[in-house]
Amino acid sequence: MNDLLSVENLSVAYGAGAPAVSSVSFTVGHGAVVALLGANGAGKSSIMKAVSGLTPATGKIRFMGEELLSSPARRRVAKGIVYVPEGREIVGDLTVRENLVLGGYQKPAAERKERMEMVLDLFPEIAEKVDRQAWRLSGGEQQMLAIGRGLVANPKLLLLDEPSLGLAPLLVRRVFDRLATIREESDLAIVLVEQNLAVTMRLCDDLHFLRGGRIVGHRGAEELKDETARQEAINAYLGAA
Ligand code: ATP
Repeated sequence: MNDLLSVENLSVAYGAGAPAVSSVSFTVGHGAVVALLGANGAGKSSIMKAVSGLTPATGKIRFMGEELLSSPARRRVAKGIVYVPEGREIVGDLTVRENLVLGGYQKPAAERKERMEMVLDLFPEIAEKVDRQAWRLSGGEQQMLAIGRGLVANPKLLLLDEPSLGLAPLLVRRVFDRLATIREESDLAIVLVEQNLAVTMRLCDDLHFLRGGRIVGHRGAEELKDETARQEAINAYLGAA
């Protein structure tokens, strides 16, 4: 089957200095989880922003057979690419429900309602607090809301930027358990940027190591299938970082 997303020779430059991303190529299959690992400044968020249309880039971004490089961000959302940025960026003064409605602003009301119910089933913690202002939620709940808001848009590809950031280990596990559930129950594909190697390794099918805006290593599903292989990949990554 054709890949859902194919990124070819993607480059991002913000100014005159060294490019933030240089000729990066990777693919994401339907329902696959692909992780991007790298130190701060390696270019991970820039790749996410380029794929979602929030920063200009060169190269090719093919999604479901359509070339999207020059499409505006809203067209990419409509096609099914949804970005959940680092730091969550939920609207603190709005309620949980209102934040979820925002996530589905491009959807007909009936579909949005159905998706919101699905999200609240998946995250009962926030279902209990739908009428509460978002700033009053805990960090873990805010992260669930950010992911949930992304899911209301009914994406085919979710770009998740550091979902574990600032969360206590128990909450990290809870958020990743839910991501695993989503994986099992739908054919949603995920591009995941994470610093937490252990949880990432367990979820992903494909792993790319980034340094200085370039992909410097790759591990596929075969090389991540058991704990020993995953540990070897972590060691290789730490050696390359
Ligand atoms: P982090 O985990 O710290 O977000 P990252 O791997 O996601 O790191 P990027 O945020 O993509 O990396 O940054 C890659 C490079 O591009 C860095 O050198 C960063 O300083 C630079 N950069 C990122 N955003 C901008 C911007 N808006 N303007 C100028 N330079 C930027």
